[in-house]
Amino acid sequence: MSENDAVLTHWIDGKTVAAAISRPGENPATGGAGVETGLGSAADVDLAVRAAAAAAPGWRRYASMERGRLLSAVADRLRADVDRLAELESADTGKPLELSAAEIRGSADYFEFYAGLVNLPTGDVLDIQPDLHVYTRREPFGVIGVITPWNLPINQAARACAPALAAGNTIVAKPAESTSRTTLELARIATEVGLPDGVLNVVLGRGSEVGTAIVEHPLVRKVAFTGSVRVGQEIGRIAADRVLPLTLELGGKSANIVFADADLEFAASEAVRAFVTNAGQVCSSGTRLLVERSVHDTFVEAVARVAAAVRPGENLGPMITRDQYETVQRYFKVAVEEGATPVIGGHVATVPGREGGFYVEPTVYTGVTNDMTVAREEVFGPVLAVIPFDTEDEAVAIANDSDFGLVGGVFTADISRAFRVAESIEAGQVYVNSWSTQSVQMPFGGHKLSGYGREKGIEALLHYSHVKSISVRLALGRV
Ligand code: NAD
Repeated sequence: MSENDAVLTHWIDGKTVAAAISRPGENPATGGAGVETGLGSAADVDLAVRAAAAAAPGWRRYASMERGRLLSAVADRLRADVDRLAELESADTGKPLELSAAEIRGSADYFEFYAGLVNLPTGDVLDIQPDLHVYTRREPFGVIGVITPWNLPINQAARACAPALAAGNTIVAKPAESTSRTTLELARIATEVGLPDGVLNVVLGRGSEVGTAIVEHPLVRKVAFTGSVRVGQEIGRIAADRVLPLTLELGGKSANIVFADADLEFAASEAVRAFVTNAGQVCSSGTRLLVERSVHDTFVEAVARVAAAVRPGENLGPMITRDQYETVQRYFKVAVEEGATPVIGGHVATVPGREGGFYVEPTVYTGVTNDMTVAREEVFGPVLAVIPFDTEDEAVAIANDSDFGLVGGVFTADISRAFRVAESIEAGQVYVNSWSTQSVQMPFGGHKLSGYGREKGIEALLHYSHVKSISVRLALGRV
């Protein structure tokens, strides 16, 4: 399971377990061969879930400070190993090394943050009547299934695993089949620093087999899913029958609203960062840019100028899968068919020496109305749809006229308007005068089709534990 292994294998009960079959990998930066990855079955899931269930009582009884020390040790090892892990992440995803390194450091932050919060999910004492001592306590669910996508592989895994482990749960994780390597490394590191066997397991494989088997397994007590709306809905249907709690972190089509009084130079660079980071393969990308009409043309010019400095193969990685590469090309075609005008981009990009890589140009469309496909659907590529507006109310109405509700942005010099608009946007998080000041401390999650439940912050700990009320009848002496 290290970078030298020919085929990636599961990590179950603290050791490597081979899968019966495997899939060849593809290197998105070149189109050449990538790492071969094992494909598991429902039997592998059963083995992992049983290991996690067996480890659960022991992990839950750990002294909380000791549990925190182990999570802290995971953070330290991730930081110490950042260069090696970043290389593995970049080999799978093609993303620039510095982006992968930031992703690894972000993963360490999750473990560090939750290591310090192991005692936080506390209960209350309820004063109900003299002969009753009533208290609440937060308890872990038991085995949690963590299913993650390919865009930020180790980061998404760490985002769910760190709070779930801190709250005393054990885990069966399933990374995306094209980018499994660093999630396996995370589990191996956790075992090496002393997490008991079975506490963090990874089963490789396809969503339709391994993912479904995790959601259906009777010993899995909660699932944290990050991925597409379609799969989130499928999981939701199975979960409904099982009355299984879920955290769903799904897609987005987030609006970034720029008013004429904003610092337009800064807003332009932020508007570009919002849609090109990770080549647009981020759920919280700002992919609808709403611009006050009086500055529309000059602002679009500034955005195009900044975007022109974003170069595929240099500071812009490829689409991480061939499917995604083809999907973005379909959106290029549909956008133009529906009447949008590319101010910049709109094509695949050829990087010398990496002609087979899955690169596309950073793309900005004007002439977009909010009912066009490019304004309604998540492209998941570096593609921006610009829409003009005349009034504050209209801007908010356009921002909220979306099936999604993940994030939003507001750029304005008017502080009252900033608050008004931020509070009116239907989204789990809103950024004012900067894009994506996300951090591990800020709760993160969606409205509408973007999902429910919260990752990050103290909220995540609450979502990975549930409340039990205990009432104790007391024999009161006479006074
Ligand atoms: P996806 O839904 O296709 O796959 C996500 C994971 O689910 C993968 O591990 C996949 O193998 C698994 N899966 C697929 N079918 C399954 C099934 N029937 N049952 C159980 N598991 C199944 O998503 P993707 O294409 O890998 O990722 C892109 C999507 O993820 C985008 O929509 C993006 O917005 C979303 N995303 C959301 C967040 C967030 O925090 N809200 C973060 C990152 C990505």
